[in-house]
Amino acid sequence: MEFDTALRTTEFDAFYTFNPARLMRATRDFVEGFPGSVLYAVKANPLPQVISSVRAAGVAGFDVASIAEALLVQAEAPGARSWFMNPAKSRRDIERAWRELGLRDFVVDCAAELDKLLEVLPTGEPSLRVHVRFHSGASDALYDLNSKFGASHEETLRLLQRIAAQTAWSSGLAFHPGSQTISIEPYLTAMQTAARLIERADARVASLDIGGGFPARYDNMPMPPPAALLQRLGEFVASCATLKRVELLCEPGRVLAYDCMSLFARVILRKDRALYCGAGIFGGLLPAQQFFQLPVRAWRGGEPIDDATAGGQREFVVFGPTCDSNDRLAFPYALPEHLREGDWIEFQHVGAYSESVRCAFNGFSVDHLVTLDAHEAG
Ligand SMILES: *Cc1c(COP(=O)(O)O)cnc(C)c1O
Repeated sequence: MEFDTALRTTEFDAFYTFNPARLMRATRDFVEGFPGSVLYAVKANPLPQVISSVRAAGVAGFDVASIAEALLVQAEAPGARSWFMNPAKSRRDIERAWRELGLRDFVVDCAAELDKLLEVLPTGEPSLRVHVRFHSGASDALYDLNSKFGASHEETLRLLQRIAAQTAWSSGLAFHPGSQTISIEPYLTAMQTAARLIERADARVASLDIGGGFPARYDNMPMPPPAALLQRLGEFVASCATLKRVELLCEPGRVLAYDCMSLFARVILRKDRALYCGAGIFGGLLPAQQFFQLPVRAWRGGEPIDDATAGGQREFVVFGPTCDSNDRLAFPYALPEHLREGDWIEFQHVGAYSESVRCAFNGFSVDHLVTLDAHEAG
């Protein structure tokens, strides 16, 4: 469907736009700036066209957490390499990942998970690599993932030692500071820890995976582009003899994908300063339920409403279309005073954790996606 047609339709009250050029630019910039290999974290946005775009833009492979994600990569990016970087995997999935999908890269953060790998995978196979995920310490991430995963430093050393003693596999270290980590310090601290662990280990450590978590830009968090952060990472690695010798990997999701999609939601009812829209937190605005204020723009008659002609702005409370009172955005949104039923609100920066977590709760499903071509790309 064309963008203009979608804006003029009366058939539905919400649709997504996808801007492949923007996704590819963000991915290329990140790949160029990162001093190692970049894996795309599929869970941030698993749309087939996202998988193929980031591959075309130069990612080295994909971070997958399930067999379904690995199959998706196989279908949409044939020949691309997937890393199975979920620290809690069923035996069946470990087996299928290796035998049917040919995955060679795994992660563990405890002895029980390593026991499973040792029983299911061929221990004499040197092409296998097992990363040990360690607890990376304090983080300023909005979503701290260290409360769920991560071995202690002593346990990390024991796991590395067991891999070296019992297998022909190579090994690596991994950490993940959490999603939307808003400063560089948690990465540098964890990388310093990784260097100490590598120096203390009774085993050769071939790689360090520093995870994802790189911050995206939202209205309440006006983060700069990641270039400066990546440069500091590069300088840090260059200054550390231990880290210079290992292969460096990262697994960004959000920072690559956030800018490539908008969600257009029609105003279906206005009650004074409350707007009820064609899509809310279940339709893809979950990131705006709590933490993020999304950039917005209003549209009428196929055009953005120009502030100058709109007669000023006011703040609105924004609700989704379902009957759940949680279906409400956390922040007030400044929109044209004259906004009325039938206008569209474009919620920008919904490329990450939106498409991947939305559902059809209460019968409202956002089933239309418009791919923008270069001249619409904005
Ligand atoms: C979620 C996740 C990522 C991606 O995190 P972002 O915050 O989207 O960059 C990367 N690696 C692992 C292991 C994850 O769980």
